[in-house]
Amino acid sequence: MAFPYKKMDEADFDYIRQATSPDRVKVGKEIASEYYHDEMPEYGSFPPELYVEVENKEEISQIMAYCNEKNIPVVVRGAGTGLAGGSSCKYGGIMLSIMRMNHIYPVDHKNQTITAQAGALLLDVQAAAQAEGLFYPPDPGEKTSTIGGNVITNAGGMKAVRYGLTRDFVRCVEAVLPDGSIENFSSNVVKNTTGYDIKDLVIGSEGTLCTVTEVTLKLLPAPKCTCTLVMPFKSLEECADMVPKVLELPFIPTAIEFLERELIDIVERNLKKPFPVKDGEAVLIVMYDASDRRELDGAVEAAAEAALANGAIDCCIANTPERAGSVWGVRGGILEGMKADSVSQEECDVVVPRSCIARYVKEAKGIARSLGLRVEPCGHCGDGNIHTELLRDPGMTDEEWESATGECLRQLYQLSKELGGQLSGEHGIGNGRLEYLKEFVGPRMIRLYQSVKLAFDENLILNPGKIVEFNE
Ligand SMILES: Cc1cc2nc3c(=O)[nH]c(=O)nc-3n(C[C@H](O)[C@H](O)[C@H](O)COP(=O)(O)OP(=O)(O)OC[C@H]3O[C@@H](n4cnc5c(N)ncnc54)[C@H](O)[C@@H]3O)c2cc1C
Repeated sequence: MAFPYKKMDEADFDYIRQATSPDRVKVGKEIASEYYHDEMPEYGSFPPELYVEVENKEEISQIMAYCNEKNIPVVVRGAGTGLAGGSSCKYGGIMLSIMRMNHIYPVDHKNQTITAQAGALLLDVQAAAQAEGLFYPPDPGEKTSTIGGNVITNAGGMKAVRYGLTRDFVRCVEAVLPDGSIENFSSNVVKNTTGYDIKDLVIGSEGTLCTVTEVTLKLLPAPKCTCTLVMPFKSLEECADMVPKVLELPFIPTAIEFLERELIDIVERNLKKPFPVKDGEAVLIVMYDASDRRELDGAVEAAAEAALANGAIDCCIANTPERAGSVWGVRGGILEGMKADSVSQEECDVVVPRSCIARYVKEAKGIARSLGLRVEPCGHCGDGNIHTELLRDPGMTDEEWESATGECLRQLYQLSKELGGQLSGEHGIGNGRLEYLKEFVGPRMIRLYQSVKLAFDENLILNPGKIVEFNE
């Protein structure tokens, strides 16, 4: 079994240099500290023993087979934009960067699909589809994340309300298993009941089961027009109550997001991004896509009427790209704004049934405030995925912050469970939410997770200590 892992020595370094190329390998202090953690250093900072940039699946296969034999842990790294402490070398070993594997193949028009290597950036995949009049809908906030990272974390994003998650667009995954074998999970087909659905099992597995090298993704015809509405309300509760009303209309919204005024002020103040609507303590942002103008106008009119009939102070239509850009610019700047406005942050990414959004938001704020924490619930309320951001103010000691956030998270996850929700809607477990997962899903489910992990990775060398742990 894995523990303790082998400490890498010169012979191991030389083997990786020879399997790849010396100029793509760094060791020890040569490795930049940004690779010690992902976007959440709060979830641990772990120096890799060796960092390597691979160029093809054969190199990965050779590295994995060697590490499997020598008992060296490997962590695959995309763009490092994860928010769960996933792409960090908790037990040392190798950080394997996939960023050089970024080729995007020509769009396959007959199958309406696109194939890309795992290190291609989401924005480049979206642009390649768009250049051919097609549309790759999954839209997580960070467009410089990799497509492989999106698949392996089952990234969600704002447009999940209408189009679904990354999972809903994956036709085929090519991957290297921890023993070095190269496999394809499914192929470019619409249906597949050939054995267990391993493709869907590895999607969202956060780099703990295999290394994704290439993905084939479904595309849609591009929508012809789009419109964003901003509905200001007197309170966040009223704003959250509006969500089911929008969903009851006979038009499917593309995105429904909410922001409190306090959070808008944080982004405006720190990033100098002005928000075009000044009224209201909270705003609901609703976006529609349509294939023609008439359909779009019908949706916009119905949503505006419903908003005004349900307590909205106003309903502003951001019908030019500039106005829509300023609305979405503030929404997209939340994380950066909060980082600039606080000493550190803790993030709770629960998802609750859409019927419970208003109750969750109200009770979550009560919980955080009773523990003396600044709290900013925001985000993807159209799918019930409420990002409950906890912010640390300068006056708090490390001890006060850790004990208050720990207790707050326990209560928020308990609340989500009571409401029929889940612990994470899209950011995953990684290293950051591990201690809460056991209590949330219970011991039987943990044993099931462990069995799945062992079926792929019997020596526990791939991203160990994430999602599942085995007692060392
Ligand atoms: C500003 C901001 C906004 C965000 N908005 C959203 C959002 O709306 N929705 C959402 O879901 N996420 C969001 N995220 C989180 C993040 O962008 C996604 O999780 C993204 O999918 C991570 O991709 P990455 O390439 O950065 O992966 P990394 O951070 O490098 O890795 C994430 C995990 O995947 C594994 N991994 C990466 N590539 C591979 C591979 N090829 N094979 C095997 N394992 C791999 C890593 O080991 C790690 O466990 C946001 C992040 C930021 C900073």
